[in-house]
Amino acid sequence: MILKSLVVGELETNCYILGDENTNEGIIIDPGGDFKEIEKVLEELHLEIKYIVLTHGHGDHIGVLAELKKKTCAQILIHKEDAEMLSDPVKNLSILSYTPISVPEADRLLKDEDKIKIGKIELEVLHTPGHTQGSISLWTDKIIFTGDLIFYGSVGRTDLPGGSYQKLLRSIQDKILDKEDDTIIYPGHGPSTTVGEERMNNPFLNL
Ligand SMILES: [Zn+2]
Ligand SMILES: [Zn+2]
Repeated sequence: MILKSLVVGELETNCYILGDENTNEGIIIDPGGDFKEIEKVLEELHLEIKYIVLTHGHGDHIGVLAELKKKTCAQILIHKEDAEMLSDPVKNLSILSYTPISVPEADRLLKDEDKIKIGKIELEVLHTPGHTQGSISLWTDKIIFTGDLIFYGSVGRTDLPGGSYQKLLRSIQDKILDKEDDTIIYPGHGPSTTVGEERMNNPFLNL
């Protein structure tokens, strides 16, 4: 499996590019900004992007969706409960920045336990609300992409519209901490970590 991470945009969002080396098919997770950087990596890796998956609908995760859609013709996938955020700068909170974002609608709406496949890679969609109502995590063998649900030593904000601290803790408990300790967490911001590390040391989970 090819896995490349880029830090993009003003809020330093992690954009992940995933590929299957046999078929050269790829997935982009959270293209929040810096289209040119992402484009460069795609060209280096010779990947044909099939899907652009959003862990949730906030502006810092969807910023260059329109350009990328145009370039790759990939399908846009987002959980149904965050779908309206794509085209609405108020809902995706980009109205708070100087560049309001309105991007193309989703091609497919996701729900819990959906599967996203490229080549031999199969990502399972886990509905993990709390940061937003339609936040998802993407899980495949020993790897989990969590968006803004959980970070290294921290958890996502729950004070924004659609946020719920209770739901966030429940999502982490039920859908993240049930994975094996050596599962690598790739969050929406900051360094990667592991389920074991967060289980032991994350102060928000050890009250
Ligand atoms: Zn967010
Ligand atoms: Zn974010």
